Amino acid sequence: MASSASRYEVIVVGMGPAGASTAYELQKRGVSVLGLEKYTHPREKVCGGALSARIVRILDPDFLSVVEEEVYGFRFTYGLDESYFVESSRPLAYMVMRSGFDAWLVQKAKHAGVEIHEREPVINVMAEAEGIRVITSQRQYVGQVVVGADGAKGVVTQHLFQTRPTRMVPALESEVQCDTPELGLKLNNGQSPTYAVISLNAAKKGYGWIFPKHHGLSVGVGEFVRGECRPKRSFHQFSQEEPVLQGLHVPAPLGHPIPVFQWSRIRKQRHGWLVKGRALLVGDAGHLVDPLLGEGIYYAIRSGQIAAEHITRFLREPHHPLTMYEGAVLAEFGKEFLIASRLNRIIYGVPRSWHRWIGRTFPHAYQQVLHRYCQLLQGRETYQSLWARIIRKLTTPCFQR
Ligand SMILES: Cc1cc2nc3c(=O)[nH]c(=O)nc-3n(C[C@H](O)[C@H](O)[C@H](O)COP(=O)(O)OP(=O)(O)OC[C@H]3O[C@@H](n4cnc5c(N)ncnc54)[C@H](O)[C@@H]3O)c2cc1C
Repeated sequence: MASSASRYEVIVVGMGPAGASTAYELQKRGVSVLGLEKYTHPREKVCGGALSARIVRILDPDFLSVVEEEVYGFRFTYGLDESYFVESSRPLAYMVMRSGFDAWLVQKAKHAGVEIHEREPVINVMAEAEGIRVITSQRQYVGQVVVGADGAKGVVTQHLFQTRPTRMVPALESEVQCDTPELGLKLNNGQSPTYAVISLNAAKKGYGWIFPKHHGLSVGVGEFVRGECRPKRSFHQFSQEEPVLQGLHVPAPLGHPIPVFQWSRIRKQRHGWLVKGRALLVGDAGHLVDPLLGEGIYYAIRSGQIAAEHITRFLREPHHPLTMYEGAVLAEFGKEFLIASRLNRIIYGVPRSWHRWIGRTFPHAYQQVLHRYCQLLQGRETYQSLWARIIRKLTTPCFQR
């Protein structure tokens, strides 16, 4: 049995954004890759499908062919309280349907020459002396390196990273079909071009979203702070009360947990959370999700790119350890996620104060923060630079009204 296994330099388990990007980047570097996916693309995925505009820095420009809407503004609401608008002359976000976007990524990997087996779920992975044995519903393979890109509760995590701590945020999402000009007006409040809506009272310590798509809206809620959660109730209330959704049929939502990054746990387990022996985790499998927004697609793709670089060097250079990947991810995302966690506690801890009191008492400052947030989505700010600005502002003696 053991001798009949096909051998690859790298086997990637899961062909979502993280896996497809890892496989594509490895193939471009001349590494032999096998990608395994339990479904066949295009497949559905519960997701808001919002890509922050900085995604243009890490994707080939032809991704625009699968973009449903370009969003130039956000409307921040707190129930029926006053709304705050931020907008830009450049896109702030690109809206995709995950079925089309993920299929595009997989197609790109296939065109580059990656061997991808769809409808072949992996059921077990085992570390061996010469690599990692991957057992699927159909056969066995051995990879010198295995990449777990199969989501937070994936097989690779379960079998090779059992001790890893986890933190999941409950999120619900529904796709509303509609195709009316009035909807555009409702969504944009009479303005154009396209806006998305973020509601800070839609969820208990989290937010609700309405993202425009070509033939409808993605509507969802995520509850980002630990403690008692009630996402179904929040979703129901949000879909009943949000003015944009009045008169529309909102189908029952589907749920999926979001594995947000947690610094406190990483501090306890500094090494071995993304790399163990010859196995690596990328994307949701590595919990590489922004703890403020729940944005995961950007980090899934980027972690795949970083992983591909370090795997190639590990295979080609005698002294390049795989663990360099862990350090590189921490260097690029670590401080960003740390500050996103701080903002999470501040914003979701007192959302009403933020929106009502700060919005009314310091309208200029509030507008500035929202404006900076837009720049963050465009990659012109980082959480670290945003945090430094907030601290500077708060410590300036005459805090401008
Ligand atoms: C409700 C909701 C809304 C969200 N909205 C947004 C958003 O608007 N923007 C954003 O950036 N992020 C959003 N996210 C997060 C985003 O969906 C994830 O971070 C992203 O999908 C991570 O990509 P991935 O490739 O790591 O994992 P996935 O997209 O989960 O891909 C994993 C792949 O592995 C496959 N797989 C699993 N097990 C196996 C197996 N045993 N064998 C073979 N294949 C397997 C799966 O079929 C899947 O194709 C949202 C999440 C939720 C739950």
